[in-house]
Amino acid sequence: MIDTHCHIDLPVFAAVFEKVLARARKAGVTAQVLPGVVRAGWQRILHLSAVEQDLFPAIGLHPMYLSQHGKNDLEELRRLALSGHLVAIGEIGLDYYLKENNRSMQQELFEAQLVIAAEADLPILLHVRKAHDQVQATIRRLNFTGGGIVHAYSGSLQQAEQYVRLGFLISICGTVTYDRASRIRTVAKTLPLTSLVIETDSPDIPPSAYHGECNYPEYLPTILSALVRLRAEPYQQIAAQIEKNSRVLLFQ
Ligand SMILES: [Zn+2]
Repeated sequence: MIDTHCHIDLPVFAAVFEKVLARARKAGVTAQVLPGVVRAGWQRILHLSAVEQDLFPAIGLHPMYLSQHGKNDLEELRRLALSGHLVAIGEIGLDYYLKENNRSMQQELFEAQLVIAAEADLPILLHVRKAHDQVQATIRRLNFTGGGIVHAYSGSLQQAEQYVRLGFLISICGTVTYDRASRIRTVAKTLPLTSLVIETDSPDIPPSAYHGECNYPEYLPTILSALVRLRAEPYQQIAAQIEKNSRVLLFQ
């Protein structure tokens, strides 16, 4: 099982990092992608991925942390993107959930990072809230064809199908374990298996059994099981196909 989006590099895990990683491995998590959100966190991601063979680095400038991004961060991102060590650029995107988060600044930052991803021939890890149409329009306008993953997908089935047409995979997270999450369950049930991947987004979005607690990568099997219960195909076929989807996009 590949966790395509997990933040075990964050300070909240620093004291228990080895234990968390060991428990994830024991639970059958064979690889984890660590996405970057601000420049201050990139070095730890790169360091951990260099030391641990099952951790893979992505770095990016997250649209939620605009005030933390500096002038030269994009230059540094470009330099690291071209270094050949990354599996993706991310997480990047647009977040319209909080109205006070400057949208034109987000747009500029997103477009600059799309250009870098294209130049470095890397896929992207998308963070999108309430802005799926705008993100898709931007990808089309810039003619970005490198594909990627829409992390912790929260949009409609129609928007998911549009992403698939643009060459993206849809990532299912702990939300799928909640009975009331009917929209995301419909997406998980309906999309072709070849378009799905899974993630924990640890420490955020715990599965329903751990509601209100910290989320760990060892809960990835819970998310996979919830997906299996929604779908017609047998467990083995689902597990094998979504692992292949992740592997082909990120590790080949
Ligand atoms: Zn994240």
